[in-house]
Amino acid sequence: MPDPNALLDWYDRHRRTLPWRALPGAAMDPYRVWISEIMLQQTTVAAVIPYFHRFLERFPTVEALAQAESESVMQAWAGLGYYARARNLHACARAVMAQGGFPRSLEGLQALPGIGPYTASAIGAIAFGLPTVPVDGNVERVTSRIFAIDAPLPGSKPEIAIAAARLGAGKAAQARPSDFAQALFDLGATICTPTNPACALCPWRGECDARKQGIEAELPRKTPKAARSLRHGVHFCLIDSTGNVLLRRRPPQGLYGGMSELPGTPWRGEPWMPSEANAHAPMQANWRDVGEIRHGLTHFELQLQVQMAEVVRINAEGVLCARADLGGAALPSVMRKCLKLALS
Ligand code: SF4
Repeated sequence: MPDPNALLDWYDRHRRTLPWRALPGAAMDPYRVWISEIMLQQTTVAAVIPYFHRFLERFPTVEALAQAESESVMQAWAGLGYYARARNLHACARAVMAQGGFPRSLEGLQALPGIGPYTASAIGAIAFGLPTVPVDGNVERVTSRIFAIDAPLPGSKPEIAIAAARLGAGKAAQARPSDFAQALFDLGATICTPTNPACALCPWRGECDARKQGIEAELPRKTPKAARSLRHGVHFCLIDSTGNVLLRRRPPQGLYGGMSELPGTPWRGEPWMPSEANAHAPMQANWRDVGEIRHGLTHFELQLQVQMAEVVRINAEGVLCARADLGGAALPSVMRKCLKLALS
């Protein structure tokens, strides 16, 4: 079994400096840990850092977030995708304020909106020092290699979770659960990387079964993904003589719930015939085709055709947004691509 002290010693020398981390020995702020964990579920550390700074500037405390308008939370989240997470974040901030602060147990954390077992474990270990090992992609990789777990993901997740808990079960890890969790994250992010792990620099190189067998680069194995389906839609960019663009609000529930968009057709499996699509145009105008964009989502890919028209006055349902204010609107990145195509 690898020695937790070896990993912790390595961490004390090589830990990453991250904006949500406290200085060595200082207490972690559960608010910062929580926001960073939700943001990191969908993108890389490097991409999250600027969003994290901007978000914290706008909502420096859980109280400020709880008191914010939902539109401004959506705006601050725009570009990160997975908007259900922003809605849950807002609901969670309100729930935390209602109970006077973050609960300090895994059960209490997991009862909050948008906090699943992994995030509860991450906040619990990192912010409150609970003896638990959060298993993210980095920890999954390190653990599957240390124990040479050959079964493919995602089926091997329960086996990996049990093995990761064994890594954190020793006295040294239990004495520093926050550092141990972050040390595992850092080991996976900087040494035990997906391709070409730097085993010569690894504090656990002597105990790693995958390395002994020479299969470290092959693990963790993954079940091949099914091809993503393609959905089609047509969106309409209508602009008036003063430079206002017509937007509409998506329903509060569902994909991109509560976000703004260009009016358009629903998204479906078959392409839209022009006559069918035109029935969804916000008003009669001299529409012209400006091209199409593609955008990948987790379960499907979107192919959206963009139509554009200029009119003197917009007479249609929706919200008028000055062109100069589009940057601050709560638009998902797929709509920004459509607008860029239409307005460039
Ligand atoms: S020895 Fe290599 S494969 Fe094993 S945990 Fe360390 S970096 Fe990862």
